[in-house]
Amino acid sequence: SMWWGSVPMGAPDTILGIRDKYNKDSSPKKVNLGVGAYRDDDGKPFVLPSVRKAEELIYQKCMNHEYAPIAGEVAFREACAKLAFGDCSQPIVDKTNATVQTLSGTGALRLGLDFINRYWQKKREVWLPNPTWFNHPQICDMLCLPYKKYRYYDPKTKGFDVNGACEDLCRAPEGSVILLHACAHNPTGVDPKKEEWECLSKIIKEKKLFPFFDMAYQGFATGSVDRDAQAVRIFVKDGHQVMLAQSFAKNMGLYGERVGALTVLCGDKCTADKVMSQLKVSIRTIYSNPAINGSRIVKEILTNAELKQQWLVDVKAMADRIITMRKMLREAIEGAGSKHKWNHITDQIGMFCYTGLTPAQVDRITKECHIYLTKDGRISVAGITTKNVAYVAESIHKVTS
Ligand code: PMP
Repeated sequence: SMWWGSVPMGAPDTILGIRDKYNKDSSPKKVNLGVGAYRDDDGKPFVLPSVRKAEELIYQKCMNHEYAPIAGEVAFREACAKLAFGDCSQPIVDKTNATVQTLSGTGALRLGLDFINRYWQKKREVWLPNPTWFNHPQICDMLCLPYKKYRYYDPKTKGFDVNGACEDLCRAPEGSVILLHACAHNPTGVDPKKEEWECLSKIIKEKKLFPFFDMAYQGFATGSVDRDAQAVRIFVKDGHQVMLAQSFAKNMGLYGERVGALTVLCGDKCTADKVMSQLKVSIRTIYSNPAINGSRIVKEILTNAELKQQWLVDVKAMADRIITMRKMLREAIEGAGSKHKWNHITDQIGMFCYTGLTPAQVDRITKECHIYLTKDGRISVAGITTKNVAYVAESIHKVTS
């Protein structure tokens, strides 16, 4: 190469690596529990009926393909903010939110952290839960934003390490940015309880820390969009001016449409206008303006009462299938005679379950049983179906006994 020969090879994406190995496996028994996308009980991708309906309505409108505004359409942005904070929440009533359309949740995180990088007057340090979604530290690295980790998952209980988290947040320097998964924590499936969120909100307030919520799964955890937004709403009620990354990949199944939003709560209208103007400058210099198709679908669903009702039913159906698969998996492992405790399978929530399988056990279950998952023992519960749950359970029992 004339110019680029010295470029080092980048680290491969672990999830895609698992998919490639799974595809190459010719065993009829093979199961892919690495996928980060919802699958129906036949293991197939799922298009929500509300989304199909919205697409039909949009098609009938014969809309053009002009550029969207830099920040996205007003109706879309307002609908996103209302869905997250609640129609009658203070920031919505006072219009003190700066909300822009983003390239799904990842784009919202990137834009939000980029904004922090440019304008944060306090400690330039992001605190991430340990463990967290692999892309969080990666985005910080790309922006040269230093990060630390706060304790989150307790391997002993396979639950939330509330004391560890509180202790670590108490010693974070004033003005640090605290990244929080609003619900359905990835990769652990472990969420704080309501009282624990209240406690975190109090500490973050007292220690003058800045909460940045990543909400990639609203509705996907409990099946209720309002319940899944409870953490964000507790913080807002406590007077925090939060930053929020939203994604419609999971809860509307719009993965490839890349539609999401970033909100910065500003406390007053004048600041919101200034923040909005700077977010637009960032967007302008990266991709000019957002894509129109996905946001039209989201807008259609959220602003049409009948369609929204259908969507709430659709999200709940996905969440319920996952919750049912958790129950069936746990019962089947226990039924197979396992001596270990498996309550964490049903205590955890959302798409992912941190099984507690060790890297050696993961190797074994992949080699011997053709079941694919990440080395950390994380399984995507969406990959489990009524047809494969018995086999998955039997295999987990086999490698853990
Ligand atoms: N945050 C977390 C914690 C996630 O799990 C995901 C999805 N894997 C995202 C953000 C963003 O995904 P997307 O860019 O597809 O919306």
